[in-house]
Amino acid sequence: MKVLVYCETANGKVKKGSLELLSNIVSWPGTEAHAILLGAPASLEPLVAQINKFAPQSVHLAEHAALAHYSPEGFAKVVADAAKSLGAEALVASVSAQTKDFFPRVAVKLDTGMASDCTELSTSGGKLEAKRPLYSGKCFASVEFLGAKPHIATVRPNALGLKAEKPGSATVNKLSVDPGTIRAQVKEVIAKAGGAGKADLTEADRIVSGGRALKSAENFKILEDLANVIGATVGASRAAVDAGYRPHSDQVGQTGKTVSPTLYMAFGISGAIQHLAGMRSSKVIVAVNTVPDAAIFQKADYGTVGDLFQIVPALTEEFKKVMH
Ligand SMILES: Cc1cc2nc3c(=O)[nH]c(=O)nc-3n(C[C@H](O)[C@H](O)[C@H](O)COP(=O)(O)OP(=O)(O)OC[C@H]3O[C@@H](n4cnc5c(N)ncnc54)[C@H](O)[C@@H]3O)c2cc1C
Repeated sequence: MKVLVYCETANGKVKKGSLELLSNIVSWPGTEAHAILLGAPASLEPLVAQINKFAPQSVHLAEHAALAHYSPEGFAKVVADAAKSLGAEALVASVSAQTKDFFPRVAVKLDTGMASDCTELSTSGGKLEAKRPLYSGKCFASVEFLGAKPHIATVRPNALGLKAEKPGSATVNKLSVDPGTIRAQVKEVIAKAGGAGKADLTEADRIVSGGRALKSAENFKILEDLANVIGATVGASRAAVDAGYRPHSDQVGQTGKTVSPTLYMAFGISGAIQHLAGMRSSKVIVAVNTVPDAAIFQKADYGTVGDLFQIVPALTEEFKKVMH
């Protein structure tokens, strides 16, 4: 099976979720893995070395001035055209705000089926097989693809896990690109939300989240201190975001971001279903709450009944002793 992996880029790097997906697909038996990158002219060749850590058969570079900044129309057209001309039997990407936006458009352009937000992806008999959560993760659906190809799937970052590097050198192919008519084009990104160097919440391996109980934006400093010590990204519940303690880009949950880190620590978060929807697939969940029957404890692997304002600084000091 010929699989085309859309590799998203940000800040001069291929995103971790895309590399994770590629690392899995190159190890599938009987599968030809190909990567595609989109960007401004002369911006993509320096990224090929990152792709070559997992050595797909080839890497296709779609460079055009109109692709310097993301646009759903331009990206959808270029990826759909490439999938068609390369004869891809499957087209996959890591879930992100960008792929949530434009991958359904690719599926419409190619008139094929799509499974979004998958937590498992594999191949059997030359076909993709996927598992995806339904009803905020209360149950899972096994998805079979029927009809026209390429079959399309997006997979949550951290769901498959990054496989060991398999260095090699992919054939580099420069695509001839036509992004079509773009009705609204970003000319310049003036400022980015979120701290520089901070791992994106959706790709973070460790997350330290705070809820309404933090009581103020300033109090989130204790979570930031803990996050800095353990190399985590700070997240928040909707109550904390609505109260103005954190920006919406930090919100985890049904109307925020879906995360699957190795470690999710929830401080002063009650565990409402809408919050769980965004983090229940985390590998290890730790909760601290003053109320013993808070719903979050039903999902937590480890829990402490206590005051976060005492526990967080104590944890930070203990982690400082063991982390370098
Ligand atoms: C359509 C819809 C979409 C939604 N989307 C989201 C979403 O994306 N994300 C989301 O998070 N929510 C979402 N919500 C809101 C959700 O229902 C909850 O209201 C919200 O998650 C509650 O946030 P919280 O746990 O921080 O606050 P609370 O529910 O107020 O919980 C605070 C918790 O802190 C504990 N606590 C208090 N003091 C301390 C202390 N000193 N130390 C330790 N623990 C303490 C309390 O016991 C309590 O359990 C959505 C709701 C709706 C209707």
